[in-house]
Amino acid sequence: MTEIVVADQPVNPVEPFLRGDRMPHIWCPGCGIGTTVNCFARALVESKLPPDKVAIVSGIGCTGRVAGYMKLDSFHTTHGRAIPFATGLKLANPELTVVVYSGDGDLIAIGGNHFIHAARRNADLKVICVNNFTYGMTGGQVAPTTPLGALATTTPYGCFEQPFNLPFLAESSGAVYVARWTAFHVRHITHSMVEVLNKKGFCFIEILAPCPTLYQRRNRLGDGLDTMKYYKQKSVIKNGASTKDVQLNLQGEITVGRFLDIERPSLKQAMDQQLQDTLGSRYAGPGGR
Ligand code: SF4
Repeated sequence: MTEIVVADQPVNPVEPFLRGDRMPHIWCPGCGIGTTVNCFARALVESKLPPDKVAIVSGIGCTGRVAGYMKLDSFHTTHGRAIPFATGLKLANPELTVVVYSGDGDLIAIGGNHFIHAARRNADLKVICVNNFTYGMTGGQVAPTTPLGALATTTPYGCFEQPFNLPFLAESSGAVYVARWTAFHVRHITHSMVEVLNKKGFCFIEILAPCPTLYQRRNRLGDGLDTMKYYKQKSVIKNGASTKDVQLNLQGEITVGRFLDIERPSLKQAMDQQLQDTLGSRYAGPGGR
């Protein structure tokens, strides 16, 4: 009797980039972080970068868990220190494409100083910030991105501190690529991620994503689906918009797009050039980008 051979089931294209043994993940139903991970895995497929040449570095928080779920060389570092860790990794092994993947609290509060200096230096990092306007993992405290008037556990009468405008902060600090999308804009996110995976220098993508368990619930903004509807209705794509003009506010219009895409020497290129100029033939030459 002829043996029946069942063809291999087609695998989901993102599956090779995920650590199935770490599933189920910890994220709440309706959380936007997983959507961004799907976009990232698809961007890795499209970029055709060899996975063993891509490293991902996260800090602490709900988004900080991303590194642990990716089947790459993954580093889950201490709070706020993903960028300095990643900078060292890139300088030590310039062949790597180094992605920093973390949340607004981790990257912009405790890690804020590292963020502005890595951008100033144009460290060759691809920084993806999932911004849900709050500290998710620790209970919904106010963050440097919480909109004015929004409720948090530490601002029960409404946030009264001016939040950062992250694209403007990134550009004015020295980033060469700046984009913002929401978790609704999955194709745009993937496209931006492919662009930064193929670009040198400090690249920044802000992705607005719902935290239905804390931020949305406390502010009576509905669930994850309601937030996706809000993103769909209130987002306006303005590629090339001045980052000064893209400040967010509570439930207002959201300007999204690729705001900046310029070239300037990366940290490593600038360092190599300086050494070449200073040492001449005594300098052995650049070890990479
Ligand atoms: Fe996502 Fe918020 Fe739950 Fe954290 S607490 S997993 S950010 S929904």
